[in-house]
Amino acid sequence: MDGLQADLVRLAAIPSVAFPGHPPEPVREAHDLVAALLRDAGVPVVERLDLPDTAPVVYAEVPPPEPDAPTVLLYGHYDVQPAGDPALWRSPPFEPTPVPGGLRARGIADDKANLIAYVGMLRLYGGRPPVGVKLVVEGQEEYGSAFAGYPPADPQRFACDAVVIADVGGLRPGTPTLTTGLRGTAEVVVEVRTLAEPLHSGEFGGAAPDALLVLLHALSTLHDANGDVAVPGLRREPWQEQEAGCTEEEFRDLAAVHDGLPLPGTGTLGERLWSGPAVTVVGLDAPAVDHASSSVVPYARARLDLRFHPQQDPVEAQDALVRHLRAQRPFGIALTVVPGAAGPGFEARTGGPAYRAALTALKEAWGTAASPVASGGSMPLVRALAAAAPQAELLLFGAQDSMCKAHAPNERVLLSELRSTVVAMAAFVREYAADYRAGGLGPAGRGGSGG
Ligand SMILES: [Zn+2]
Repeated sequence: MDGLQADLVRLAAIPSVAFPGHPPEPVREAHDLVAALLRDAGVPVVERLDLPDTAPVVYAEVPPPEPDAPTVLLYGHYDVQPAGDPALWRSPPFEPTPVPGGLRARGIADDKANLIAYVGMLRLYGGRPPVGVKLVVEGQEEYGSAFAGYPPADPQRFACDAVVIADVGGLRPGTPTLTTGLRGTAEVVVEVRTLAEPLHSGEFGGAAPDALLVLLHALSTLHDANGDVAVPGLRREPWQEQEAGCTEEEFRDLAAVHDGLPLPGTGTLGERLWSGPAVTVVGLDAPAVDHASSSVVPYARARLDLRFHPQQDPVEAQDALVRHLRAQRPFGIALTVVPGAAGPGFEARTGGPAYRAALTALKEAWGTAASPVASGGSMPLVRALAAAAPQAELLLFGAQDSMCKAHAPNERVLLSELRSTVVAMAAFVREYAADYRAGGLGPAGRGGSGG
């Protein structure tokens, strides 16, 4: 752990922000350090992939120790979110600083601690784990890059039996968590134009159509009186593992909800957050209160962020929202509804040998049974890897936790979570290799010719 912690500090001290306007040198530097750490851990093949429209990707390989051992692909990213306003940080974002139980720095949880956990697992096995390993560490995940289009175009390189995506973490510190679902995401912009220009509200208010009121009436139809989404055609199902989710009390703490406020919606939290839809108004164009004149508003616009069931088709889900809004006629006035980007969710196949091995490994590492959860975050890369290696089982677990403040000021990682993640990865490859051998599920067997 001392060695891993020192390497994490080195990596987190590099401001590898791959957003426009940020210098490219630190991104390269982080790439080179990750490659060097893998080489030092005994990985025999470490390559740099230069693909168009993205930062260099670290690609590394450890061949399977025996012909019938499975191959596990490990994914992560070495770039980080911009730090944002430095005044909101309690220590400089790129000077890793001790906090109780951990370290604070931008990107230290998302996703550098998880990269270090991969390195730790490899070190434990002297670079020769009992499975074949492929490592893919990209460098422009946070800004978004063309990389997600690449794996399906080069399936040979990404061929594997299981994928571990350590770009996630636990429901809470100390709780091992396997993320088995990601909601899909879609954007919709809705716009109302009623007048050529603002009109004196004393002279015209009451008969001149108010664009902002029309928009607000339309938006108010998105939820029912309980706060449940009221848009027909969006899938909502009970979350199977509801007993494993967090309690309302924990959720309140996590979200820092003001005292005494009810949480919107009915049903379990799992159903509201993971296996049901959410519509959030994320932006609104309207006159600002401080500069408002006494005028009827001629134009208003809102951007909606839709999250939907992991298995619902993105176009179908987005269409449901678009149709609902187009059908609204507040005061007899129609709205202009423009669909934006949409991306699918993901639901992991559970119950296979890699899933079983992961459950055993997580229990061993954290000392308690793992909770299967979903997450509202979308990851285009998850779908891309699933498309490139359709037979592979996908597993999401890692050293972040729900209170690590990823993407926010004062991001931190707990060393206990990092340690448990290293142990979990090491136990996972051990269990998976053993299960593979015992089950006769080697590459020959999986072809359908029997084991
Ligand atoms: Zn991440």
